[in-house]
Amino acid sequence: MKKIILTTLNSRYTHSAIGLRYIYANMQELQAQTEIVEFSINDAVQTIAEKIVLHNPSIVGIGVYIWNALEVAELVHILKKIAPDMTIVLGGPEVTHLPYRVPFDEVDYIVQGEGDEAFYALCKRIVEQNPPKEKIIPMGMPQLKALQLPYKYYTDHDIKNRYIYVEVSRGCPFECEFCLSSMDERVRAFDLDAVLEEFEKLWQRGARNFKFVDRTFNLNMKTANKILDFFLAKGDEEYFVHFEVIPDHFPRSLREKIQRFAHGALQLEIGIQTLNPTVAHNISRVLNMEKLQDNITFLETQTHAHIHLDLIVGLPGESLESFGANLDALVALSSCEIQIGILKKLSGTHIERHDKEYAMVYSDKPPYDILQNRDLSFLDIQIMKRFARFWDLYYNSGNFKRSMKLLYEGESVYENFYALSMWIYEQTQSTWKISLERLGSFLFEYLTTQKGLAPQKVADAMFEDMLKIKGRATPNYLKPYVKEKKVEAKEGRSGFNKRQL
Ligand code: SF4
Repeated sequence: MKKIILTTLNSRYTHSAIGLRYIYANMQELQAQTEIVEFSINDAVQTIAEKIVLHNPSIVGIGVYIWNALEVAELVHILKKIAPDMTIVLGGPEVTHLPYRVPFDEVDYIVQGEGDEAFYALCKRIVEQNPPKEKIIPMGMPQLKALQLPYKYYTDHDIKNRYIYVEVSRGCPFECEFCLSSMDERVRAFDLDAVLEEFEKLWQRGARNFKFVDRTFNLNMKTANKILDFFLAKGDEEYFVHFEVIPDHFPRSLREKIQRFAHGALQLEIGIQTLNPTVAHNISRVLNMEKLQDNITFLETQTHAHIHLDLIVGLPGESLESFGANLDALVALSSCEIQIGILKKLSGTHIERHDKEYAMVYSDKPPYDILQNRDLSFLDIQIMKRFARFWDLYYNSGNFKRSMKLLYEGESVYENFYALSMWIYEQTQSTWKISLERLGSFLFEYLTTQKGLAPQKVADAMFEDMLKIKGRATPNYLKPYVKEKKVEAKEGRSGFNKRQL
């Protein structure tokens, strides 16, 4: 009996691959000889190869994503050296569209598209000694309602230690040109009642961390309301649910339900990307400023939802000034996390139509970041990558909420943070491995020496930020200011967040 292994390298240990579980669920009579073996991007590739070989599989299916493409190429290379008879099949978003910029020449098969049923069909032919001659196998889209659902294949260990990824639909009707989901314009839905039944079983088994991978959760109100009702019916139980939403569609029924979620229970990721109408038009992205402002203000002021907004650097036609205006506008609108990403050119997307006009130059290595364009030099992009990293450490971490406000009070957030990040990089020549205390001391020094603020005023703000966690020792640079003002320890969300460091 040929043994089949399904594997991938997740981007973090706490992540779990729903794709592997779909394939496993749909392996029919081959399921008994199939096993899921998951790794994380932090595992050594040779160790991964060793663990796979120990299973002595005849067929290995590997899920390839933007974060693991280079490691998968290396893994394939090692496996083919040490076990040349092993049939290696790749699938996943990274191999679904041409061109392949990571060389996968050594693999036996590549399944392009949704592999839920395709992998089974391919394995069956291999097992029956009738393997396809062609290496690249393009697949149509499966009927979602006919698929076996994957949820019972989350183990008790997954439920206890990982986010449980779930979905009720695939595809997105929008056409944002940088996004792979724009290729799949038709939104297809699973049988909602059947999926909710599975969610209930997961809940009964103890699952409390659900991440929905649906691209636009708030598109279909009937579905969205039913899912929110499912969680609201759980009452006072502690849980966490994550949804990706579009910013301009929060009708009353949805608002009412969102308002009922407890603090920390609901996380909404809202892709903003740009607030510049010309740039939004360039990338075929819908931008309704009035609704966007109204909805974010509602979420900010009338709900307990944790909001996470996304902006992109490097879009065609977006200058640094325009990006800065976007950031300033978002900070004025909300105090939530703002994730700053760098534009990527994903194979298959339409963003490449701007290459000539906007002189877009991208790296050919994952994650295919923009290197320069007509409006931003390579140096500008490098500076903005560091800006994004320091933004995470100072702003998104929530560790410097009060003191950060001193940086830009009444002025442009972008311009002030740009100057701060340039100054810090001059001192560190690095954006990594900077301790929390060092971050604080840089901010203190910058605010007092470069911005000319009174040290005691800065220290007071930093005490408020830093002493929110009881028992935390005063850092050396603040010790001279302790006696002049004592700030009582308070509880609060914006206590030091070591996860971000
Ligand atoms: S960015 Fe969001 S809204 Fe736009 S195509 Fe992608 S998933 Fe859809």
